[in-house]
Order: sequence, then C-alpha cells, then structure tokens
Amino acid sequence: MESFDKLGLIEPILRALRKAQYEKPTPIQADAIPPLLEGRDLMGIAQTGTGKTAAFAIPMLQRFAETDVPPARKSPRALILTPTRELANQVSASIKTYGRYLNIVSTAVYGGVSIIPQARTLARGVDILVATPGRLLDLMNQNMLYLDSLEVFVLDEADRMLDMGFINDIKRIIAALPVKKQSLFFSATMPVAASRLAGSLLKNPAQVKINPLATTAEKVEQKVLFVDRKDKEALLLSLLEDSSIYRALVFTRTKHRANNIAKKLNSNRVNADAIHGNKSQGARMQALRNFSAGKTRVLVATDVASRGIDVRGITHVINFEMPNEPESYVHRIGRTARAGASGEAISFCDGDERSYLCDIERTIKASIPIDEEHPYHSKHAASSRPSGNVPAKRRNFRPRRRQFRSPAGR
Ligand code: AMP
Repeated sequence: MESFDKLGLIEPILRALRKAQYEKPTPIQADAIPPLLEGRDLMGIAQTGTGKTAAFAIPMLQRFAETDVPPARKSPRALILTPTRELANQVSASIKTYGRYLNIVSTAVYGGVSIIPQARTLARGVDILVATPGRLLDLMNQNMLYLDSLEVFVLDEADRMLDMGFINDIKRIIAALPVKKQSLFFSATMPVAASRLAGSLLKNPAQVKINPLATTAEKVEQKVLFVDRKDKEALLLSLLEDSSIYRALVFTRTKHRANNIAKKLNSNRVNADAIHGNKSQGARMQALRNFSAGKTRVLVATDVASRGIDVRGITHVINFEMPNEPESYVHRIGRTARAGASGEAISFCDGDERSYLCDIERTIKASIPIDEEHPYHSKHAASSRPSGNVPAKRRNFRPRRRQFRSPAGR
C-alpha cells in the first residue's frame, strides 16, 4: 500500500495522519481499514506495535464523522475494551490524535481513580469510549452508562484479557450489547478460549493476520546471558555501566521483585522506578512520564503493567527474569523497536529458567544468541540448554498451541 490517500479516507483524517507524520499505512492498516469502512466485522491477529490502534480507530472516526450526530448522554456509539489502564490511555490518546480535526468526543475509563468524573463525562455525551472491563461494568451497574445503542465494539488484546481472568466480565459486557453492531476482535495469539470467544462475537469477519512473532523478533537484536539467580542484580548493575543503555525497560515476574530492583538501582545511583498493578494510577502515569522524559533511565515492570507502554526510544529491554509464557517474551521485547526503530533485548536466564527459554525459542522459531562475555556467566545455567525436561503442565499446553500454528505455517 503506497499511501493513506488510496484508502478512501476523508480529508480531516488524512490531515491528522500527516500531522502525526505517518507517511504510509502499516500492513495491518492497509488490510483492515477497507473492510472496516465497508462495515464488516474483523478478526485481527496482531499485537501492539503493529499500528493496530489506527487500523480500528480510523474507520470508526470516519463513520461517525460522516453521520455527524451529536453524542448521546451515557450512550457511546463505540466501545473499545482493553485489558489495562495504560493501554486504555494509550488508545484514547491515539484516537484523539487521529480525530484531532473532527468533532468527535472520546474518553477512557478505568479503575483505580474516582468514578464520578468519568460518569460526568459520559453524561455529557461521548462518541467513543475506551474502557477496562471492571470499571465498565461498575458504570453499567450504576446506570451511568448504557450500551444498547452501541454501533461498534472492539475487543483489544483478547488473549491478554483472558490471561488476566476477564472472561466472565467480557461475557457479561457482550451480553449487554445490541445484536446489530460491527465487532472487531484483536489478539496477538489465538489460544482455544480466544478463538471460541471470537466465534461467539464475529459474523463473517474479514481476517487480518500480521505475523507478530517473526516481525518483532527480527527488528530486535536479542541475546541471552546465562547467570545464577544470586548474581542477577550484580549483572544488571554491571550492564548499566554502559551508557549506551540509555532508556531501559527491565522485566520481572513479580511486583515485589520489581520494587526491590528499582530500590537497588537507585541506591547505586541509577535512576529507576517500578510500575506494576499495586501502584496507583497516578503513580503509574508519573513513572511513565518520567521515563518518557528521560528523568528515569530504567523502568522496572511486570508483564501486566507493561501492556500498552508506548514510550519511544526504549533502547534496551532486559528480561531480569525469563517470562514463563513465550508470548510475553514477544510482547516484552516489542516495547523496544517500536514502529520500525531497532532495539536490543537482553535476557538473564538462570538454571531453573531453561525450559522457558526453550519454549520461547520454539515460538519465535529462532535460537537466541548466547553472550558468554560477561563477568557473571554461569556454566551451570548454560550447561543443559535446552533441557527438554518440560514440566508436565507445559507439556499439556503445547499441542493446543501447535494446532493453531500449523495452518498458518509460522
Ligand atoms: P499501535 O500498534 O497502534 O500501538 O502503534 C504502535 C506505534 O506505531 C505507535 O507509536 C503509533 O503512533 C505508531 N504508528 C502507527 N501507525 C503508524 C504509521 N502508519 N506510520 C508511522 N507510525 C505509526
């Protein structure tokens, strides 16, 4: 696709895209925008970082701009459901960017902040609502919001929502929607539960698949460092002596560990902050702002908190702990190399994490280069890689995933 002009978009949207310095559509935008403009349902296999927000937001902005009806009280025309507050804010900001020359009202609602201002905004009338499931249900239960005249429904990052245990909330929300609507379903992966949910929601959908695993992995220079668990903090500190690690996102599996690492870094004169689900919304936003502005060099995050982080110029993603789901690895390293930039992903792997590494390499269909040239290299951690001793729980998990992959030929 050469340019946005060929997609049949109205002038104010084209102008907004020019202002955002988007020169041409990303593959998902080129594939998804035409069927969405025709009013079709859509199944999109794509992760954050592919440009999918514009892919779903632009057609709804165009549709609402063309009908030009003022927003109704408490009854949005479009709902975008996202798993986290950060992603809700991010999506909402993108909608404002693409709709800057249109008279369309959008807002984001999520938990962790007062419901009252959100209810007031909804009462004044909103066209496009971005929401996390829990707060959305609260608003519905308190009659602050009605979904019976919804025209467009977007379920974003469906696989992550299911991982986070939102399935019953999502079913309740879908049950409250009108039968006649345009439905869009986005997921980075398609586990059985996600494809069942998509089946219940979508009617004759257009399908768009952006090979997320391969493309993300290609742009990121990856390496794995074998290290004993007790040496991981020292290894992180020694890496950070290199000033080319200018803006680093460090991942841990637990909130507790995220806090500890941030504390340790600060006590060693590395400006760091932690972001995870126990932090207030205000604290999370502040941490993100400081990180974006370069006031903190390192942001330590858990997987859930990292969803939707769209900070430009993250030079390094450091997996302090290997993720236990391969998809999380892809999401994590996708925080660097945003929108075509390149970046580096460094993974610390201890002896107990080798099976995770093995799963990740299978998923990305590549083996991650090993860097032994660091002071904490552990022969023990490196020795039996990959072990093949996959715990029983994971062995059960694999056949289902393979079932999905094989037809796509990934
Ligand atoms: P998303 O996958 O929607 O989170 O988008 C990822 C990043 O790509 C965001 O920073 C967008 O601003 C940027 N982006 C989206 N579409 C384009 C485009 N066509 N050209 C350049 N950047 C884009």
